[in-house]
Amino acid sequence: MAGLTDRFAKHKDSADQETPDADWIRRLPKTDLHVHLGGSMRFETLLDEAARQGVELPPTEELRRSVILDGPGRDLSGYLGAFQYTESILRDATALRRVARELVEDAAAENVRVLEVRFGPTNYVTGSLRLYEVVEAVLEGLQEGGSRHGVRTGLIVCGIRTDMEATSRAAQIAVNYMDHGVVGFDLAGKERGFPPKDFREVFHIIHDNFLPVTVHAGESFGAKSIADAINHLNARRIGHGVHLRENEKLYDYVDIYRIGLEVCVSSNVHSGASHLATHPVRKYFQDGLRVSINTDNRLVSNTTVTRELELLAGHMGFNKGDLKILVKNGVKSAFLKTYEVKRILDSFDEEFGKLP
Ligand SMILES: [Zn+2]
Repeated sequence: MAGLTDRFAKHKDSADQETPDADWIRRLPKTDLHVHLGGSMRFETLLDEAARQGVELPPTEELRRSVILDGPGRDLSGYLGAFQYTESILRDATALRRVARELVEDAAAENVRVLEVRFGPTNYVTGSLRLYEVVEAVLEGLQEGGSRHGVRTGLIVCGIRTDMEATSRAAQIAVNYMDHGVVGFDLAGKERGFPPKDFREVFHIIHDNFLPVTVHAGESFGAKSIADAINHLNARRIGHGVHLRENEKLYDYVDIYRIGLEVCVSSNVHSGASHLATHPVRKYFQDGLRVSINTDNRLVSNTTVTRELELLAGHMGFNKGDLKILVKNGVKSAFLKTYEVKRILDSFDEEFGKLP
């Protein structure tokens, strides 16, 4: 099948035109820039931690059906329902550290080299677990896993649209830990009725400290949400951006400024934001937008970056050359300095040469 980006790549190797198989995709070096700690733990860890902490969960098979959403047809609130269970074990420093470390291990096992994990730390504060302890536990887990497996990790702190006060506390702690592994700030949660522009004041501290911003936008609500995130919150990346194509001028702006689109196809299908057959990722990629492929919630969507790339290859005509561009887009979009981006891109090129 002809590649999707032929108009951009005139001298591509003919092997790049081939459709990749699962093994080739697994061996490809990758990035995952949009993955939530609270929805990406191992199912066994969920059971194990619940037992250790005495957290009551439904019987195993019922729990499995509630947290792993394999099919389409749920709305965002149904999708988010899974998190009442997964997050119930994370109000504990040992569990936070473990889940973060295991997430790096799982990513490393599929050759993810740049991993930016996000979470809303205010969700996990309890009477005995303070906000800074929550953040430090996750940073420790990421650093442990990262140094053991050679993965470049970073933490993105999330504010939550429905809770201005929690977002303000999250912003403060994010800035405090900028020199210790926090690489960005995100605004997540319900889009309709909670426009990004309402958070301008809260984002002052983020902007004053030059912490890079990505915002969940255009997932369950229109292009206006994306425009707001860029214009009012200085977002340099957009989580999902499914509705971007609704505004042509904005579409061109996102292209010209190389604003990163963190695409999460399975998640969009499971949350009802899009369908596999009509997902805009094919158009975004063909038009040369800075698209990266991400998992969002590895447990809830029963996915990995490998599986997401398999979906693109199997259902949307992406060939080997296209997937190489996508993984490099991930490196270019990561909240990393140029010298690191260059080093990692060079290492990716070297590894591409060793692929069959
Ligand atoms: Zn997300």
